[in-house]
Amino acid sequence: MSGTINAFEMAQRQFDHVAELLNLDPQIAEILRQPAREFSFRVPVRMDDGTLRVFQGFRVQHNDARGPNKGGIRFHPSETFDTVRALAMWMTWKCAVADIPLGGGKGGIVVDPATLSTTEKERMCRGWVHNMWRNIGPRQDVPAPDVGTTPQMMGWMMDEYSKLIGEYTPGVFTGKPLGGGGSEGRTEATGYGVIFTVREAMKHLNMDPSKSWAALQGFGNVAQYAAIGFIELLGGKVACVSYWDREDRTAYTVSHADGIDPRFLQSITDQYGSIDKDKAREAGYVIEDSEAWISKDVDVLIPAALEGQVNDESVQKISDRVKILAEGANGPTTPEADEVLKSRGIFDIPDFLCNAGGVTVSYFESVQNDMNFYWTKEEVLKKLDTKMTQAFNAVLAMSEKEKVYMRDAAYMVAIGRVIKAMELRGWI
Ligand code: NAD
Repeated sequence: MSGTINAFEMAQRQFDHVAELLNLDPQIAEILRQPAREFSFRVPVRMDDGTLRVFQGFRVQHNDARGPNKGGIRFHPSETFDTVRALAMWMTWKCAVADIPLGGGKGGIVVDPATLSTTEKERMCRGWVHNMWRNIGPRQDVPAPDVGTTPQMMGWMMDEYSKLIGEYTPGVFTGKPLGGGGSEGRTEATGYGVIFTVREAMKHLNMDPSKSWAALQGFGNVAQYAAIGFIELLGGKVACVSYWDREDRTAYTVSHADGIDPRFLQSITDQYGSIDKDKAREAGYVIEDSEAWISKDVDVLIPAALEGQVNDESVQKISDRVKILAEGANGPTTPEADEVLKSRGIFDIPDFLCNAGGVTVSYFESVQNDMNFYWTKEEVLKKLDTKMTQAFNAVLAMSEKEKVYMRDAAYMVAIGRVIKAMELRGWI
């Protein structure tokens, strides 16, 4: 979401389209087109060699009508204010569509974390909190890990906040490590959430999951658990996954004629999602080119790696057998490809509904922090299933009632809920 595409303009365009569908009062639309509050600040960090470096930090709070702002902190060298604004707006819609009582936020620092030592990273995290502690908190704004940030970093940030306000406050950051205030089930949450929505879509389309095949792009956190879930929760088979090979600096698709075993592939995958090709070949897997996943003869396609992967070119390769596109990644489908999917009658589960499992379990984490009582993994995943199923069915009902595509329906449900909260609070 950097370079030539201005993510914030894209987010505003999407919003304007739905504002028109909803026949929204232009004044109300004006409130939601822009973030409610924005913070831009400098983060001085003492480096290990004794020099001082100053980094650019951001936090954007888009809308908190439904509850405290929620959204990740990204450490990325090409982070911009506009990227953060767009992501904060998308978080408002994601929390609303999942019907969790939170608003939207996002933050970041312009930095490549790979260039920092562990102690420099810790000082940077504490520095971010020094700038923002008056404006975050379990009842104000609850950040989480995102691109370039980790559970350990959330632990440092939570510690700094707790010291500054003089009170142990685990609920100020989510995505903390297990044993340090984190929740069971967070690792599986997004991938399993994808599968709960796929299961509901299959019911709607009268498909038999146990006779279904899926193909996935990606083999990181989301794709691994989506593949496992498709097999273990639905009884289906997975034809392939794809991944970025760090040695060859290119992407490959890894497939198996009888269906892949994601737990085996997980055992030969490094922490960056790169699969050991030789070990895969020894086990009977075939290594194909990066695009092979999208042309597989399957019932369900799950892009779960990067944005813009289903585009005007690649969409032409989708087999006639495909009935469902489940968007595990953020923004995997371009507007041009979207039109092709619509015309071919492929059922789309839009990203901010499909991958809302992660933020839903983050919400469960802050609830558990508040209670100081922790649920088992089974309890967390059961509650997640309930939330995802309800969210999917609310969007499907809107899509059928208004005769609109699922992506528009998801926006209509989300924006409608935010507006209702603003009305109930007397803001509009
Ligand atoms: P990750 O970093 O764990 O995994 C990314 C995967 O994509 C890796 O397996 C990598 O090898 C693969 N990949 C990279 N380039 C590729 C290419 N050109 N072709 C094929 N595969 C490629 O990331 P993740 O957490 O799994 O996130 C994936 C997507 O899901 C992102 O769009 C992210 O924003 C979105 N998302 C993640 C979560 C979450 O909880 N992790 C929640 C919501 C949305």
